[in-house]
Amino acid sequence: MTPTDRTHRTVDVLVIGAGPAGLAVAARLAAAGVDRVEVLDREQRAGGIPRHCDHTGFGLRDLRRVMTGPDYARHHIAAAIRAGAVLRTGVTATGWAAPRTVDITGPTGLERITATAVVLATGARERPRSARLVPGTRPAGVFTTGQLQQAVHVHHQSVGHRAVIVGAERVSYSAVTTLRRAGAEVAAMVTDQPRHQTHPARHLGTRLRHGVSLVTDATVTELTGRERLESVRLRHRDGRTAAIGCDTVVFTGDWIPDHELARSAGIALDPGTRGPATDPEFRTGAPGVFAVGNLLHPVETADIAALDGRFAAAPVLRHLAGVPWAPGPLPVRVEAPLLWISPNRLTPDGPRPPRGRFTLRTTRFLTRPVLTVSQDGRTLHRGRLPHTAAPNRPFHLPADWIAGADAHGGPVRITAD
Ligand SMILES: Cc1cc2nc3c(=O)[nH]c(=O)nc-3n(C[C@H](O)[C@H](O)[C@H](O)COP(=O)(O)OP(=O)(O)OC[C@H]3O[C@@H](n4cnc5c(N)ncnc54)[C@H](O)[C@@H]3O)c2cc1C
Repeated sequence: MTPTDRTHRTVDVLVIGAGPAGLAVAARLAAAGVDRVEVLDREQRAGGIPRHCDHTGFGLRDLRRVMTGPDYARHHIAAAIRAGAVLRTGVTATGWAAPRTVDITGPTGLERITATAVVLATGARERPRSARLVPGTRPAGVFTTGQLQQAVHVHHQSVGHRAVIVGAERVSYSAVTTLRRAGAEVAAMVTDQPRHQTHPARHLGTRLRHGVSLVTDATVTELTGRERLESVRLRHRDGRTAAIGCDTVVFTGDWIPDHELARSAGIALDPGTRGPATDPEFRTGAPGVFAVGNLLHPVETADIAALDGRFAAAPVLRHLAGVPWAPGPLPVRVEAPLLWISPNRLTPDGPRPPRGRFTLRTTRFLTRPVLTVSQDGRTLHRGRLPHTAAPNRPFHLPADWIAGADAHGGPVRITAD
């Protein structure tokens, strides 16, 4: 066998990504009696992001208890193995040889796996500084939250003494906790929004406990420093500029789905989420290929990702039983200032999304907005949200209206006034 030869195997279900979503779907399918369910992860350990989130806040909706990230990851790994799924780590899915045939590379070399169903559960990541096009020098001390948590909790590295956090959403507050635990002071959190985007109690607690100040309506315009970061420069919305001295900066939020594998399969992506376009049964446009978790909604919490996995097991089982592949034909699109909706395809006489609702995001604060659903100029639903819609936080649209959509009509449009 030459180094480029691949062994070729067949499985019933191949799950790519062993985070909460992938592990949950694998556990359900294996428990339902599917013979060969294989889960791959490119990391050396399964569990996905929660593995290195060494703080509580995981498991409320799916497990009805609150756990730390590592405990939560261990729970889902154990459940998948107990159910009979095969977990393989250090194994990366690199491309497709045919519609449900995936090329992988791992410790045992190159392989090719053909599956009756493929479930993409590759998650989402924060866009790093380079993708945010922040000018300046290239010093040490620049992280995303994920990189920071890996450095602190996995590699036990020192991360600096004085930090600025870019962002003020849920994950940004996790970055505060991690930095404080690593012994770093947090000089400021900087957000381009007029206020923070987390739970008020979380914000207040962070302010009182750690004395972190929040700079609103401001963007980071430059990083300075030669070997190590020395300061970040800011521009306020009103044109004022300022500099904050720091040796560490953490770029938080600004999520992008890990959609490379989906793209390389030619799977249609939703223009809002930038993950695969899917219907309420987690079906992509490629026959036999499903997608779950934060790949579809960048980002929701881990328990929502795991619940996706649980819900997706039933449609996967139907596919394995030979039910014809007929993903929702109608695109569902949002208009600015809305950012995305998930799921984003539907069949009028098909099932509703899990929990009977769609999940949305907005790019700016909207005080009790009226959400209107229309198709070809016809209003299908109109209703006021009972609360403010905040950027970087989920809000929901009930799905009662989907039966009124015309399967042969144009895209369904969602607007907010
Ligand atoms: C700093 C931080 C703090 C957070 N705090 C909380 C919290 O307190 N509570 C909460 O509920 N949620 C929290 N979250 C969110 C939570 O971690 C995510 O919602 C959850 O991990 C999403 O699960 P997932 O399975 O969709 O994706 P992930 O957990 O991202 O898993 C995806 C997996 O796919 C693998 N993968 C990707 N591409 C490939 C490939 N080509 N081949 C093989 N493997 C691949 C990756 O290695 C990864 O392990 C936090 C997130 C961050 C970053």
